[in-house]
Amino acid sequence: MKRRVVILGATGSIGESAMRVARALPERIEIVGLSGRNNTGRLLELACEFPKAAVCAGDEAAANQLSHDLGRPVLHCEEGLLTLAALPEADLVLMAIVGTTGLKPALHALENEKDLAVASKEILVMAGELVMATAAKMGVRVLPVDSEHNAIFQCLEGQDPSTVKRLILTCSGGPFRKAGAADLASVTPEQALRHPTWSMGRKISVDSATLFNKGLEMIEAKWLFGMPMEQVDVIVHPQSIVHSMVEFLDGSILAQLGSTDMALPIQYALTYPERLTSPCAPLDLTALGKLEFEVPRTDLFPALDLARRAGTAGGTLPAVLNASNEAAVDAFLAGRLSFPGIWESVARAMDEVPFVEHPTLDQLIEADTAARKCL
Ligand code: NAD
Ligand code: MG
Repeated sequence: MKRRVVILGATGSIGESAMRVARALPERIEIVGLSGRNNTGRLLELACEFPKAAVCAGDEAAANQLSHDLGRPVLHCEEGLLTLAALPEADLVLMAIVGTTGLKPALHALENEKDLAVASKEILVMAGELVMATAAKMGVRVLPVDSEHNAIFQCLEGQDPSTVKRLILTCSGGPFRKAGAADLASVTPEQALRHPTWSMGRKISVDSATLFNKGLEMIEAKWLFGMPMEQVDVIVHPQSIVHSMVEFLDGSILAQLGSTDMALPIQYALTYPERLTSPCAPLDLTALGKLEFEVPRTDLFPALDLARRAGTAGGTLPAVLNASNEAAVDAFLAGRLSFPGIWESVARAMDEVPFVEHPTLDQLIEADTAARKCL
């Protein structure tokens, strides 16, 4: 079967990996829509490569320039993203915009009966209940792209959900796995961006260094798999080869292993339920020699405990955690906040922003806005 795919965030790290998958499987994947915000040069190249795709730029000026260069209309801003999300010729939307900007387009895609392959974990953390309920109502799928959730998705296939004891998310530990508290105070953006095993966008790289990435993923797992927070665990695995695991009632643990290449989970999401040849390098376990597992250092990295608290309380708390983290990461990258300042500011926002137990979308957006101001 051929999937007609819109990629929102096509110029980013996930977007580029998705392009690699699409190029390798032209018979199975057709790119019908593309968006990018600031890298207009790259968006122009991609739009030329996929001449039939509808294109959306970050602002009107970039859209006019691109339209002139391409000789076809180009959309822009949120309106444009919404149009792409509902393209009549699309079957599936891959959401790869960093942060929560993708929330409305993601909901719009589901409301227009498109399957949603979701890389942008922030939208599930902010509004997972709403996203999953909308998908269920419309009878469409939410397919996980995040490598951990894609691994769990594969391990759960054909299994009775009531036999699951816990989901075990693996975590590389980030670049400061072996650091001391004193080292963390002076971490620079350059050091935080140097991830030991994955090459990714700037925000997720900093999130991996603070372990907020894993915290966000715990909440993402809760919504994607309908699992209570206490059945979602994290284990440090520095090699990032076991992408995650599921433990069942009988004590069996199923795991998915693969090379550290996002093309693999992206392809599985885009071609699900089919397994096809992929452009990823095969995994050579004997070359690796050993796989290690450790307990996460929650004393030094409070992100996991904060995320567990937010995920357990539910309501507006995950949205507050997510938004305050997003603002804090921006401030850290701009040199306005220390590295430990990121979790300090998230903890403050979680205490200060008023809690709503069953929020509407508007109340989630209000909580998001209030949390960003707590910096
Ligand atoms: P990135 O920064 O490399 O790319 C982000 C993309 O979103 C770009 O195309 C950019 O132009 C677009 N974008 C950014 N802000 C936008 C806005 N306000 N409006 C419209 N478009 C905007 O990020 P990435 O590493 O590709 O990550 C994308 C998402 O996928 C994140 O939510 C991240 O957590 C998640 N994710 C990434 C990886 C990875 O390996 N990179 C793995 C798992 C999950
Ligand atoms: Mg991940």
